[in-house]
Amino acid sequence: MGEKINVKEIVKRKKEELKVEVDALKSKGINPKLAVILASEDEASKIYVGKKRKMCEEMGILQEEFILDNTVQTQDVVDIIEKLNEDKSVSGILVQLPLFKHLDMDRILDSISYKKDVDGFHPLTLGKLFIGEDETFISCTPKGIMTILDDIGTEYEGKHAVVVGRSRIVGKPISQLLLKRGATVTICHSKTKDISSFTRQADILVAAVGRAHIITKDMIKPGAIVVDVGINRIDGKILGDVDTENALEVCDKITPVPGGVGLTTVLSLLENVVQAAKEQNNI
Ligand code: NDP
Repeated sequence: MGEKINVKEIVKRKKEELKVEVDALKSKGINPKLAVILASEDEASKIYVGKKRKMCEEMGILQEEFILDNTVQTQDVVDIIEKLNEDKSVSGILVQLPLFKHLDMDRILDSISYKKDVDGFHPLTLGKLFIGEDETFISCTPKGIMTILDDIGTEYEGKHAVVVGRSRIVGKPISQLLLKRGATVTICHSKTKDISSFTRQADILVAAVGRAHIITKDMIKPGAIVVDVGINRIDGKILGDVDTENALEVCDKITPVPGGVGLTTVLSLLENVVQAAKEQNNI
């Protein structure tokens, strides 16, 4: 019988470590600050922005929000970002996705200075990740997944990692991170035939699809470590991409949903803000 990974406990510990770092920076007169741009009426996005605000407050990280209505144009958002790029008091810039449909997401994300790209979606940031450079921001969800896997002592070399999903936000970056650590990585997606023939070989299985319980017990290799990234709202409940309760009969460890990867995603954002503040002050 496998076990659910206690992500809450990992995050509590990591937050304590981060608070020590923030306090040390403040004692040197450096105040890490996150600027958040919300240009959407998406309810989930508003909740995520609220969670980020709360955690910034908890950590003593400054935060400024730009809440824009649907009359805003791409150039207006780019103008705000360009000012923030130049503003020395701002360590990191985050544009909450998705944006209003009429906005040009690529142009907006590309206008963020990669030195302040704490969400890690800038093409330069992703390119650096792809070539395996260390000095880059790792986008928050994949970084958080690695925090969990490292914390439980996961071995990567010689292991087969299978990632289901190939998005810019999760699937592609987590595949690169696992590859960098020495795992052999297979990426599956909606065009993959017979997905279970791949997932059944996975020592490390990452599900980032967005389909409730698409990964069933019979698709999991006995003894696997399973990371469930999915957040699916079904009949008022939040379900992962993995049928967790049955998966526990075969896997070794699994991240719960809720209370799993989502918790480390926000932590990673704040870690990136602190990293940005340090780099901008040559620390
Ligand atoms: P996307 O919709 O951008 O990507 C989903 C991926 O899954 C695509 O690559 C798609 O393939 C693939 N896919 C879709 N259907 C199938 C299928 N039937 N079989 C195999 N692959 C399939 O989603 P995201 O990557 O942004 O998010 C994935 C999930 O993770 C969502 O539930 C999201 O809410 C959650 N999430 C959770 C976060 C957290 O902090 N916990 C953060 C970010 C996301 P194709 O490319 O071929 O279309």
